[in-house]
Amino acid sequence: MLSHPALLSRKYLQEQSRRLQREVAELVRAEEVQKKSLDAQEAELKELADQKFALDQHAIVAITDVQGTITYANDKFCAISQYSRDELIGQNHRILNSGYHSKEFFRQMYQTIANGQVWRGEMRNRAKDGSIYWVDATIVPSAGADGKPRQYVAIRAEITERKRAEEEIRKLHAELERRAAELARSNAELEQFAFVASHDLQEPLRVVAAYTQLLGDRYRGRLDQDADKFIAYASEGALRMQSLIQDLLAFSRVGRVDAARVCVDCEAAMEEVLGTLGPAIHESGAVVAHGALPVVWADRSQIAQVLQNLVGNAIKFRGKEPPVISVQAEKAGQDWVFSVSDNGIGIPPEHAQSIFVVFQRLHTRTEYPGNGIGLAICKKIVEHCGGRIWVESQVGRGSTFKFTIPCDVLAEKELCSEQIPVPS
Ligand code: ADP
Repeated sequence: MLSHPALLSRKYLQEQSRRLQREVAELVRAEEVQKKSLDAQEAELKELADQKFALDQHAIVAITDVQGTITYANDKFCAISQYSRDELIGQNHRILNSGYHSKEFFRQMYQTIANGQVWRGEMRNRAKDGSIYWVDATIVPSAGADGKPRQYVAIRAEITERKRAEEEIRKLHAELERRAAELARSNAELEQFAFVASHDLQEPLRVVAAYTQLLGDRYRGRLDQDADKFIAYASEGALRMQSLIQDLLAFSRVGRVDAARVCVDCEAAMEEVLGTLGPAIHESGAVVAHGALPVVWADRSQIAQVLQNLVGNAIKFRGKEPPVISVQAEKAGQDWVFSVSDNGIGIPPEHAQSIFVVFQRLHTRTEYPGNGIGLAICKKIVEHCGGRIWVESQVGRGSTFKFTIPCDVLAEKELCSEQIPVPS
């Protein structure tokens, strides 16, 4: 029997409808299974978070969904953020935003975790009462069945103290740099001032000295005795001022004029100094010995000047015995440490620093001649070379002046030993 077409189509439709129902039911069941498995996965994750970090009192743990809604918060997270768990769950993680980080910072972070990669970084968060805390965060995406991130697990450690210390150090550093720049600027100004003043004063002083000298020569014995005395004082004063100004000029020149650095054979420089100081050595009966002295990368005349000033002082500030002077050098780390020791009058410990200051002297000029600039010049030269200078002394038992010259640059100048300039 042939079926009526209408019956056929009804039957067909019923079949189709049943099939559709079956398929829908299967789909619903599949979705439920998937949901159940995802829920189980989430529950497992939370349980894992609880177990894994229960031992670590410091771990701040949160889980959010992909929109950033908090679905889990451990006790430490509640404690540090000052929100109760109820207040946190269901809130967007933005609740902790302190407004410190840029949009770009968050964009990069979300991009990383949305791509299924782990993000690590430091974050500044705001607690419920508005106080700020810093965390070192690791955000791990957790993928769903489809492989796409379904939630994010954030594990953090508080680093507020460390950040505070870092900030403190940064501020101190900035302040130090500011002061160093300020000091360099005022030093440069002072040097410029000393140079200009001493340079410009030279000419009028030369006129005063010349004319007082002339007055003395022409009118000595032709006026009264007082006039002779006064003219002599004026002439002496002018000469002394000239010598002070010349010293000041020499001092301000160190560092202002670019040092001509070459490989300096200090032994040759020392021989030169002994030649210059020959008359003083002879007159005082001094014995000056020196050990092996190195080759250094410096300005030859400046190194000679330091040695000359120190050996000269060792002769000048001698005690009752003839001076016995020793010049040595030894390597200490990255430096050559030079020493000039004597058996002279010594220096009281309270003056160990001040003697390196311009025009600072411990004696009158009648006791020991000089202007008090020699050690200041030594200090400036040595510091310009990157070294330092100091004295070790005992009153009545002699002094040892020590200074350092860095030797690291010499490593690059291996050829030095072949190019030692012969002293003129
Ligand atoms: P000057 O020699 O013109 O006085 P310096 O700057 O060379 O100037 O020395 C400053 C002061 O340091 C000296 O006046 C002296 O009091 C002290 N001094 C320097 N060298 C020695 C030394 N070898 N022994 C004792 N005192 C010294």
